[in-house]
Amino acid sequence: MNISEIFGSNVFSIAVMRERLPKKAFAEVKSVMENGGQLDMATADCVANVMKDWAVEKGATHYTHWFQPLTGITAEKHDSFITPPVEGKTLLQLTGKQLIMGEPDASSFPSGGLRATAYARGYTAWDMTSPAFIKEQAAGVILCIPTIFISYTGEALDKKTPLLRSMQAISDQALRIVRLFGNTTATKVIASVGPEQEYFLVDREKYLQRRDLIYTGRTLFGAPAPKGQELDDQYFGVIRERVGAFMKDLNVELWKLGIPATTQHNEVAPAQHEMAPIYSMANMAVDQNQLAMETMKRAATKHGLVCLLHEKPYAGVNGSGKHNNWSIGTDDGKNLLDPGKNPNENLQFQLVLACILKGVDVHADLLRLSASDVGNDHRLGANEAPPAIISIFLGDQLENVVDQIVSTGTAGSSLQGGKLNSGVATIPLLNKDATDRNRTSPFAFTGNKFEFRMVGSSDSIAEPNTTLNAIVAEVFCEAADLLEKSTDFQTDCKKYIADTIKAHRRIVFNGNGYADEWVAEAERRGLPNLKSMVAAVPALTTEKCAKLFEKFSIYTKPELESHAEIMYETYAKVINIEAQTMIHMASKHYIPTAISATTQMAASIATVRGVCPEADVSVQTELLGQISALLRKAKTAYDALLTDTAKADQMDDACEMANFFHDTVTADMTALRAPVDALELLVDKKLWPVPTYGDLMFEV
Ligand code: ADP
Ligand code: MG
Repeated sequence: MNISEIFGSNVFSIAVMRERLPKKAFAEVKSVMENGGQLDMATADCVANVMKDWAVEKGATHYTHWFQPLTGITAEKHDSFITPPVEGKTLLQLTGKQLIMGEPDASSFPSGGLRATAYARGYTAWDMTSPAFIKEQAAGVILCIPTIFISYTGEALDKKTPLLRSMQAISDQALRIVRLFGNTTATKVIASVGPEQEYFLVDREKYLQRRDLIYTGRTLFGAPAPKGQELDDQYFGVIRERVGAFMKDLNVELWKLGIPATTQHNEVAPAQHEMAPIYSMANMAVDQNQLAMETMKRAATKHGLVCLLHEKPYAGVNGSGKHNNWSIGTDDGKNLLDPGKNPNENLQFQLVLACILKGVDVHADLLRLSASDVGNDHRLGANEAPPAIISIFLGDQLENVVDQIVSTGTAGSSLQGGKLNSGVATIPLLNKDATDRNRTSPFAFTGNKFEFRMVGSSDSIAEPNTTLNAIVAEVFCEAADLLEKSTDFQTDCKKYIADTIKAHRRIVFNGNGYADEWVAEAERRGLPNLKSMVAAVPALTTEKCAKLFEKFSIYTKPELESHAEIMYETYAKVINIEAQTMIHMASKHYIPTAISATTQMAASIATVRGVCPEADVSVQTELLGQISALLRKAKTAYDALLTDTAKADQMDDACEMANFFHDTVTADMTALRAPVDALELLVDKKLWPVPTYGDLMFEV
């Protein structure tokens, strides 16, 4: 396999455009990509035609505007290249107009009340900063053109539009910061993102026997297997052959799409794995992460597997997240998050750091909200992922610099890494980092980037990055407003850094984020602890939030309100589907199974007694009693779940409904699960209607 030949072979990249487009058209496209503006219609026609020819050579029959509505996944509607037949013949065509703009019916995508269903016009428009690509799927080979999706009145109906706006904001404001430090060559600052993607694999045959996996992506019932992750024998373990074959295929598919998949390993839980690509520009990273998730699912099917991207497929073992590595760098190659060897001497880095501390502290609620989805409620704060409390891990070196600034107004020295002696004579001294890692922090500095570790595995990373870009841009803007006017830059800059760090020192926490003491300490510090998605949603409708996003024209207030509405609706719908699935499984699978078990037991008792009246049937009798009692408990909980979901059905306020699902329905679900899981441990395996945790996690 020659990776460099495969890599990007399905991407209409800049290199392909340079090769195929007339010089003038290429120059125009490149200029719009880099500086914005509009393509001339003749150029658009030319680009469209070249793109179509390229795609047709690769076997494409259709094209689609590929966009990311507020569902958090992607949307596509295929149109073939054929023109109306003339004398029974048709031509293949893609016009400039078709390339640049589309008009899908927007009424069936979530809009959170932004538009009445009757007013359905929505537009897609080509995002030239993310390359077009072809997707090979059962429906054919499809040319995908990444687009934004906006309403007739210009509101964003997708996740890409706000992200692009936020990238502009951070670029504009960060540029002002680097100018203060004498950089005259950079023309923009780019937010970069590398998302590490965790996932589970499960055997497809077994998956198909579980209605909960099919409908909700997670198990709603299931007693723990005798073995879980306690031996730590899965993490970085040898990759099983079937899984390895899947990974090999996946890599090839990702490379073809220009996604630089690089890291693969077994994760902590049984049947859990990770894939990480090399980082790229935020916008591309978001698109590519969506494509990666889709490709994972498709590749799994080919190997008789199903890829579970849910945040918590199994209770009792770790769930999956997505570590969103984020940094900002100038287009002349300087990473603003690189502290250098001596951060105490690096004033620009200190200013950037101070601004990030402030942004994250002031908007902790919003950042936490940006990592909220229904599944993630199971992970955050459950000692397997960061707590729901936002804090920043800086590590020893930077915390020491911060502490010096807090106590004396300036930092005189930096801790250094030094050498590490392994004690093995044949191994040379190793260079040691100045800072250890911390796996429990939601927002950890890792050398030249921050790792936002809160995001859920199935979630889009658009919102976390939109939020990060915006909250940092806001503080950059404030700092630049002040310092651009300064007549004594060094003094004023140092003062701004010291004041800001002092005011926001509370957000820095280097300790164990899983400890109960941290929850109490965070409360003392006044840091928000938004325990669930529904508790986090109000962050979207504060004045502070509207001010932030309106300042940079990223979201309007109505857009934010609509998002809050959509999040409540989504929460209610997802939990309702889970509840309905439990009702289905309880009444069709588990309760009948438990009844059969009691019948068998009773028959056994009667038969044994009939043959041998003095025989000891106490085991059967005891089990019969236990199973019957659990059956009663299950039925009572089942009835409560039915009643409460019916109650929820009568509500029409999305917030009220979401909170009811959160407070009442999920408690009913827990109450139903408990007796069923207990039954699983008592009932004959031959009778049990679905594959167990052991079957699902250890037979992949
Ligand atoms: P870890 O050891 O924490 O898993 P890795 O070195 O594997 O970290 O990197 C994780 C991700 O971070 C990868 O996707 C990598 O490309 C990305 N990354 C590295 N440097 C940067 C950066 N400057 N900005 C954004 N992402 C980065
Ligand atoms: Mg990693």
